[in-house]
Formats: sequence, C-alpha cells, structure tokens
Amino acid sequence: MTLRNIRIVLVRPSHPGNIGAAARAMKTMGLSRLYLVQPRLFPHETTTTFSSNAVEVLEHAVVCQTLEEAISDCVAVFGTSARKRSFQKPLFDVRQAAEKVLNEYTEQEVAIVFGCERCGLENDELLKCHFHVCIPSNPVYESLNLAAAVQVISYELRMAFLNKGLDSRLRGNDGEGRLSTVDELEGLYQQIENTLIQVGFINPKHPRQAMKRVRRMTARAMLDKEDMDLLRGMWTVLEKEIR
Ligand code: SAH
Repeated sequence: MTLRNIRIVLVRPSHPGNIGAAARAMKTMGLSRLYLVQPRLFPHETTTTFSSNAVEVLEHAVVCQTLEEAISDCVAVFGTSARKRSFQKPLFDVRQAAEKVLNEYTEQEVAIVFGCERCGLENDELLKCHFHVCIPSNPVYESLNLAAAVQVISYELRMAFLNKGLDSRLRGNDGEGRLSTVDELEGLYQQIENTLIQVGFINPKHPRQAMKRVRRMTARAMLDKEDMDLLRGMWTVLEKEIR
C-alpha cells in the first residue's frame, strides 16, 4: 500500500514560494503527485528555493488549465476550505478525511484540492468536489497559509497510512511483521524474570512491580517476530554470561 494514488491539486496558486513549500511538505510525508491549475508563475526560481530538496515533485508536477482537467480521472475529490459554506457537501475534519481516503480508496485516484492564497476555492469549484475538508482552527482566525494547509493534510494522510500499516500487521498472522503471540510473550517474560532473579534484581518473595511494568511496556511496544527474536537472543547471551 502506498500514497501514490493521492494527488494534491493547487488551484491558481499565486505565490511561487508556496508551490515550493507545498512540494516540500508533500515529500516529507511521502506524497509525490502535484497538480497545478493555472499557477500564476511556474516554474520559478523562488519555487525551487522553497522546495528545498523536493525538486522532483516540481519536475513531475502536472500543469492544467482547469480544475476539471486536474480531477477528471479521480473517483473522489476532497475540496479544502476554512470557511463553512451554506451548501455544504459532506464535511469532514482533516483527520476523518485522511482516514476515509486510506480506508476507502486504496487503489483509485483521489484528489485533495486547495484554493488560492487570496480567495480560496470558488463556490463552483467546491461544488465539483465530492467532499469538503476543514482543518479545525481558531474560529476568529481560521485560514492557514496554503503550504501550511498542505502540510497538515499531508501529515494526516501519512498518519492514517501508518495506522493502516499497523492494522494489517495486526490482521496478518504469519511471516514478516507478524505480531508476537501470547505464548511467545509469556516465554520472553519468563526468560526476563528468571534472569532478573538470578542477578538479584527481583526478589521472588517480594517481586514488586517490575514484571508488571515489563508486561505493560511490551504491550505498548507491539513486538513483532523480529523484535521478539532479537530480545530472546539478547537475553540468552546474558543468561550464558551470568552462568
Ligand atoms: N482567504 C482564503 C484563504 C485561502 S488559504 C479564504 O477565505 O478561503 C489557501 C488555501 O489553504 C485554502 O483555499 C484552503 O485550500 C487551504 N486552507 C487554509 N486554511 C484552511 C483550513 N482551516 N481548513 C482547510 N483548508 C484550509
């Protein structure tokens, strides 16, 4: 699973720096497909400077004349806006929207559309979007800088993507990335406890909280098979040294 099916569409971006900063924001979060609808200035030196090392996102950017052209092959189009509009399409906050994208459109093309710095998306452009997305912000100062909005949305897409990876790890029951079973965890706890008793860290008559905490810690860490093999290997060497 990747984020390759997701494109970021900037409609009439006016500041070249924002295009570069948006490309950088995308790349840091693993997104790579940028569409520009009537950019005022592109390509531009300032864009390249602001993109830092994300120039390949700019090199592959698709320049379009209309929003329709940028989204024509998409099955889901999310329009971003800080302002609440009276004719609202289903409205999601950015986290819900990211989860929806990752859960429902794993293969098909999805667009996240952003408006221009000065006036945002026009009403008829928002009408072309299937869903509206807002970044919850200060109600009396709710509009983020364009590239900052791209960053927040890209970040949420990445988080949803990572959580999804974790879900499939939980679902999988074999092979790489498989989570450790209760039996395997119990084996590890036993090994840790025995060793700690041998070195006098745990007094078997008054064991206190140590092992409870170890259990809580390992539960949080969600050890997979490779983690488990590493830990078992380390403790086995320690045991040998102690003997
Ligand atoms: N003055 C414009 C603001 C545009 S900011 C207006 O009133 O709409 C540029 C773009 O960043 C917006 O069109 C939108 O795509 C995105 N954006 C900024 N703040 C946002 C927010 N709080 N939620 C969702 N998108 C936001």
